[in-house]
Amino acid sequence: MSSADIHARAGKAIRLESVGKLYGEARAVQRLDLEIPVGSFTVLLGPSGCGKSTTLRMIAGLESCDEGRILIGGENVTTAAPSKRDISMVFQSYALFPHLSVAENIVFGLKVRREGRAVRDAKLAKVAELLGLTALLERKPGQLSGGQQQRVALGRAIISEKPVCLMDEPLSNLDAKLRHEMRVEIRALQQRLGFTMVYVTHDQVEAITMADQVVLLNGGKLEQVSDPRHLYDRPETPFAARFIGMPPMNLIPLSALKSEAPRDLMIGVRPEALTVSEAGPLRGNVLAVEFLGADTLIDCALGSATFQARLPGGKTFSVGEEVRFDLQVEDLHVFDQATGLRRDELISEIGSQLRSQQLC
Ligand code: ADP
Repeated sequence: MSSADIHARAGKAIRLESVGKLYGEARAVQRLDLEIPVGSFTVLLGPSGCGKSTTLRMIAGLESCDEGRILIGGENVTTAAPSKRDISMVFQSYALFPHLSVAENIVFGLKVRREGRAVRDAKLAKVAELLGLTALLERKPGQLSGGQQQRVALGRAIISEKPVCLMDEPLSNLDAKLRHEMRVEIRALQQRLGFTMVYVTHDQVEAITMADQVVLLNGGKLEQVSDPRHLYDRPETPFAARFIGMPPMNLIPLSALKSEAPRDLMIGVRPEALTVSEAGPLRGNVLAVEFLGADTLIDCALGSATFQARLPGGKTFSVGEEVRFDLQVEDLHVFDQATGLRRDELISEIGSQLRSQQLC
C-alpha cells in the first residue's frame, strides 16, 4: 500500500456512560449508556426531537455533557475540544466553502494540518477517484448538484483518515433515488476504510439498510439497541415494534379478540405476516384498500380495533367485505401495555388459542 492510500487509522470504539443533557428544565438526553464497537456502523434512530443530534454533538464535543462520561478509544474525552477527539464530521448542510474549488474544499483540513503538497495531491487523487469526483475538482460548489456536493463533504471527511466519522442526516437534502445510491456508497466506503461510523437519521430504511447496530431513541431515552434484523424480528417494546417496518406492526388489544382477555395485553403482528385464508382465525371487515403495485394494503376493522394487512398485489378486495387471515405463531408478538415489555412466555398459548379459533 502506498503512503497515499486512503485508510482510516483502525477505527476506535466509543463508549457513553450515563450521559445526560439538559436544556433548561428539559432533558434532551437521559442517562444514556452505549457501546459503539470498533469499526461498526452505528445508527442513532428515532423520531424528531428524541435526542439523536444532541447525542451526536456530545460525542463530537460540540455540546457539553451535563452528566456522565464519553470515551473514544478508551480515552476520556468528556471535556476535550472537538479538535482533540480524532473525529471527522459530515452534516446535513454540507458546509462547503463556496469560493473554494472542489479540490480546495477536500484538502482544506490537510492544508490546515500542514501536510506537504505531494501527499495532499496524492490523497486528493485517491479520494476523488473513490467518490467519482475526478472530473469535477476545479468546479465551485455552486456548480455542483446536491449529490455531488454531498460527495465533496464526504471526501473532506474521509481524506482526514480519522478513526471515527460522525454524520448527522447527511442525505436528507437529496431525492429518493440519490439517497438510495448514497446509502450504498457510504456503507461501502465505511466497510472499505474501516473507520467507526456514528450516523444520525430519523429514516428507518436508512437505519435498517446501513447499520451494524441500531440505537433506537425515544424521548431522550434508549428504547432498544440491536442489529437491524433483531430489531425487526424481536422488538422489545411497542414503540420499537411500530417504529420499524412499513407499514408499522399491528398492535391489537387482546380484549378486541376475546372480551375476558387481560386488558393490558396486546398482540402484535406485522401486516406482511398476514395471509388470506378461508379458515383463518382473524376476521377483518375491509375499511380501505390501497393498491401499491407489487402489494395491496388493506385496512380492516376487528371489533373496535383496526389492523392492516400487506398482501400480494394480484388479489382484489372491496370495502365492506369480510376477509379471514391466517398467521404463523412465530410471527406473533405479545406486549404488556402496562409495563411496555414483551411477554414471550405467552406467545405459544395465545398463538394456539388464536389458531384454534378460541379467541375470535
Ligand atoms: P433529534 O436530533 O432527535 O431531532 P435533538 O437532539 O435535536 O433531537 O433535540 C432533543 C431535544 O432537545 C428536543 O426536545 C429539542 O427541542 C431540544 N433541544 C435541542 N437543542 C436545543 C437547544 N439548543 N436549546 C433548547 N432545547 C434544545
